[in-house]
Amino acid sequence: MINNKQKILISGVQPSGRIHIGNWVGALQNWVRLQTNPDYQCLFFIADYHSLSSDYDPAEKREQIFELMVDLLALGLDPEKCLLFRQSDILEHAELCWIFNTLTPMAFLERMTQFKDKSGEQEKNINVGLFDYPVLQAADILMYRGEFVPVGRDQVQHVELTRDIARFFNNKYGVQFFPEAKPLLTNVSKLRSLNDPLKKMSKSLGEKSYIALSDEPDVVLKKIKSMVTNTDGLITMTEKEIEDALTRPITKKGEEELCGQAGILNLITLLRLFGSAEEAEQVIANQPLKYGELKPLVAKRVSDYFAEFRERKTELMAKPHEVKEVFESGAERARALAAETMKEVREIIGITLKD
Ligand code: AMP
Repeated sequence: MINNKQKILISGVQPSGRIHIGNWVGALQNWVRLQTNPDYQCLFFIADYHSLSSDYDPAEKREQIFELMVDLLALGLDPEKCLLFRQSDILEHAELCWIFNTLTPMAFLERMTQFKDKSGEQEKNINVGLFDYPVLQAADILMYRGEFVPVGRDQVQHVELTRDIARFFNNKYGVQFFPEAKPLLTNVSKLRSLNDPLKKMSKSLGEKSYIALSDEPDVVLKKIKSMVTNTDGLITMTEKEIEDALTRPITKKGEEELCGQAGILNLITLLRLFGSAEEAEQVIANQPLKYGELKPLVAKRVSDYFAEFRERKTELMAKPHEVKEVFESGAERARALAAETMKEVREIIGITLKD
């Protein structure tokens, strides 16, 4: 099924709660756009193995996996245009991960920002899977010889590690087998958490951190109304200045100020993305911002933007058989590709017995 002239593009999303506008801005909108780009053969998957490394309730996981596929379809991903599958349906991902584990220095993983962040968030569950997360990600990408990886900025470090792992493999075994993957970023590649804007918007920070794509308008309004912003409504910093300030030691007061600025810019970003650039410019030109008017306007823009998505999602939730079929046919197609790669890998690394 893979056309040799096309570049392989691959990315995944975890089933760990409903997808949010950060996922959309950083990655998923790119997926929908790229699936019709003739330069790429697109593969998108539900990273359920990855999601086991975070705290979770097993009773909810099944629904989360199913609902995520519904979400992807409702967003417009089309199994005729891209290969949609679930990671754990392809056991070879775990096998290739193990092989890559034997090539990856511990020190490289110790540097990963996501590992440090997540270890702080789930102090009682700092498991090996959390540490090894980027190696499994390398296996996901390289299994299909992925060259382009549309992800949010938070994942760039992991894609760089994937390049290192491909190089380690090729050098150790004297082959040119795995390509060097590159991240594909969207223009605005990070949304900030609503209630803690110095962090990225994330499901793991709880309901108040994010707006789910399926949140109804009243919920969106409530979340945006309680977004952390500053009190005077004045913008005094750029995104770049905030990022730079965060790399330096900071006082409590300085942190509060930064938090306010990060929040106000996040609000403007939402208006720019889900309303328009002109609307955002107008608001910036009329400082101080009047939150009483601005927040309901932003909430309306966000909920209108996803109105069609919500409708399609409701329709699809009522057709579980159709969704199940997407899982099944995706698994079959991905399995065939993974089997081909692993046959060669086993030969290259010397574990295939002679006939
Ligand atoms: P995850 O659910 O962590 O697997 O994330 C799925 C995709 O969404 C990844 O490509 C992330 O880089 C992207 N993403 C997650 N959170 C954000 C955010 N707050 N802003 C931008 N992109 C994000």
